[in-house]
Amino acid sequence: MIKFTSVSKYFPPDSYAVNDISFDIDDGELVLLTGPSGSGKTTIMKLLTREHLATSGDIFFADKNINEIKQSQIHEHKRKIGVIFQDYKLLPELNIWENIALPLSIIGKKQEEIEQRVTDLLTLISLTDKAFLFPKQLSGGEAQRISIARALSTGPTIIFADEPTGNLDRETALEIGKLLQKINSFGTTIILATHDHDIMELFKGVRQIELEKGKIKKDTKPKKESKPDVKSKSDVESKPDVDDKKKIKSKLKETKDYKLKNTDKKNKTK
Ligand code: ADP
Ligand code: MG
Repeated sequence: MIKFTSVSKYFPPDSYAVNDISFDIDDGELVLLTGPSGSGKTTIMKLLTREHLATSGDIFFADKNINEIKQSQIHEHKRKIGVIFQDYKLLPELNIWENIALPLSIIGKKQEEIEQRVTDLLTLISLTDKAFLFPKQLSGGEAQRISIARALSTGPTIIFADEPTGNLDRETALEIGKLLQKINSFGTTIILATHDHDIMELFKGVRQIELEKGKIKKDTKPKKESKPDVKSKSDVESKPDVDDKKKIKSKLKETKDYKLKNTDKKNKTK
């Protein structure tokens, strides 16, 4: 699914953020991308989303050389990769529901489909009861779960989580790790960039690409059939809950000001 061949990214005057790296990631893999601050993790994410163009080397995504994507097609390419950041990047003026719904609205999905998808995602992250709160009313762990739901909303085949637990305490970080593991078990490819030791310990059975100063220091493939030793438990556990869905549907109806900011735009693109 992803193939980097001898990829470098040079920043003038004298910095190689990544320097001649090659690796492959298969469909459905979960890969830890580790290495200290400044080792090139975020650069790899930005190369993949085409925020950066490689200085040399080729990057294939689903058999397409992404260096060759035209400027006008970058938006479409970006939508195939869900990104999660350390600082969540939720929109403060939109409530939780709207934050998750926005990417769907932008691509012109019908209201009915948006409602179904957002409800399912809220169930997955066990936050149906907070759907109408605003980002500032959430804990860090809740905000990160919302940002994961938003990243999943348009159904990307891959999630790139860039230090998603960097602002969280240990227990909450582990919950986020387990949620990502669960999403991977449903088939989504996950690249998890981290230098959080608790997360590395949680995922100690999985493949790890370790970077150092823009080079791959180690690429440890897991032993055959090795699955991460992740106990999925408590609050990341989610079974579709019929009551939750009913609750949220009625709440949606009764919320007078429920209206996506870009409804107009959506109607135009229909
Ligand atoms: P990490 O995410 O592992 O902390 P980064 O990929 O952000 O590392 O950065 C790798 C190196 O590339 C660092 O030395 C950083 O300063 C440099 N770098 C990253 N982005 C830029 C940029 N836009 N301009 C100049 N240098 C950059
Ligand atoms: Mg980084």
